[in-house]
Amino acid sequence: MKSRCANLLVEYGGIRIDTILKLGGEGGSLTLIGKKNDDGGWTFFRESQESAMTDVLDEEDQDLLLLLNPRTRMIGCDLELALKSLGRHWKQLRPVEIHPDFRWSMYKLVIESRVSNLYHWKKICLKNNPLYQLAEWISSSKHTVVLSGAGMSTESGLPDFRSRDGWWRNMDPHKVANVTAIEENYELFWGFYKYRIETVEQYSPHIGHHILAKWEKNGWIHGISTQNVDGYHVVAGNHNIVELHGNIRSIRCHYCGRSSDVADFLNRLNCSSCQGPLRPNVVLFGEMLPDNAWNQAFQWFHRAELVLVIGTSLQVAPANQLPCLTSGHTVYMNMEMPEELDPSFDLMIKGKVGQLLAELDEMLDYIHSGKEE
Ligand code: NAD
Repeated sequence: MKSRCANLLVEYGGIRIDTILKLGGEGGSLTLIGKKNDDGGWTFFRESQESAMTDVLDEEDQDLLLLLNPRTRMIGCDLELALKSLGRHWKQLRPVEIHPDFRWSMYKLVIESRVSNLYHWKKICLKNNPLYQLAEWISSSKHTVVLSGAGMSTESGLPDFRSRDGWWRNMDPHKVANVTAIEENYELFWGFYKYRIETVEQYSPHIGHHILAKWEKNGWIHGISTQNVDGYHVVAGNHNIVELHGNIRSIRCHYCGRSSDVADFLNRLNCSSCQGPLRPNVVLFGEMLPDNAWNQAFQWFHRAELVLVIGTSLQVAPANQLPCLTSGHTVYMNMEMPEELDPSFDLMIKGKVGQLLAELDEMLDYIHSGKEE
């Protein structure tokens, strides 16, 4: 199992410092190191030699290292400026180590400048890069299917269920998203789904959804089976979609099944035919998945050569069993990496969906342009 978060970390007196780019060989190396900021950006430092400090400072002084070490200079938060500080010819030097988050962006800079010998850059930026491995698998697969979950839509603004900022911090999903709630506490059920429908209507698909729509159009993916009820894949332009858990903006009567408008539900009306309670056409905890949706997803995953699982904790059955059906490659892309996942995956890539898909999309365009030869 490979991971995007390789262990490139150096600890300086409790401050997390990552190697961003190391150039040259033993003894005479030029290194850009970085400290991740609370806002997700980086502060970069240039180091002209390693290991200068540890002998001269006490343990207590370790956190002063970056300020005191004359060979370590703070450059600032701008990557391009930081790279420029390595001298005009940094792209001609031999890369020894590159942080996984920067492999693709640095490779783009290097190929833009038509560097004559790309061998070492390719080795580190592409061959040793799980995301690029995935781009190659997507390019060669004849049948790729996606399983998406709530993490696919958090960057649109919709909270997911189980991560730190998810829905259920203050609410147990089993208490509200189930049939008993409709029958015994309709007020709670209605309030929860009214809020969710309004949230879905307030936001829209993000770059990641649009990239998946482009991939379907280009024939790079063949179907998306989603656990999401927001309908964003369809809005973004995907046609081969299975909404395993239904669609929150489709409304029916809980008793007689007659369809109704979303406005009727939001206005807390009852069924115009039998006066039963209205509800979204979603699969509640304890309910079965619709047969047609499950059968279609089953067929897709069974014949898949490549399965991409995106933004889901894989805790909800039976959707979490779909990746087991393929005999092809399986890839898990998520912001958090569970210690153990059943099934296990050939590749596990940690990151935010929008950025991962945007990078993959650039890699696919690069591969299909034929320029990587
Ligand atoms: P979940 O909340 O259990 O897991 C979501 C996962 O996505 C988490 O592991 C989280 O770390 C990850 N994640 C969050 N933001 C991310 C990002 N930007 N990039 C990458 N990963 C990110 O959700 P699930 O596994 O889909 O749970 C299943 C249930 O949640 C489904 O029944 C689904 O209907 C429901 N749900 C749907 C929506 C929606 O339609 N948008 C929203 C909330 C919950």
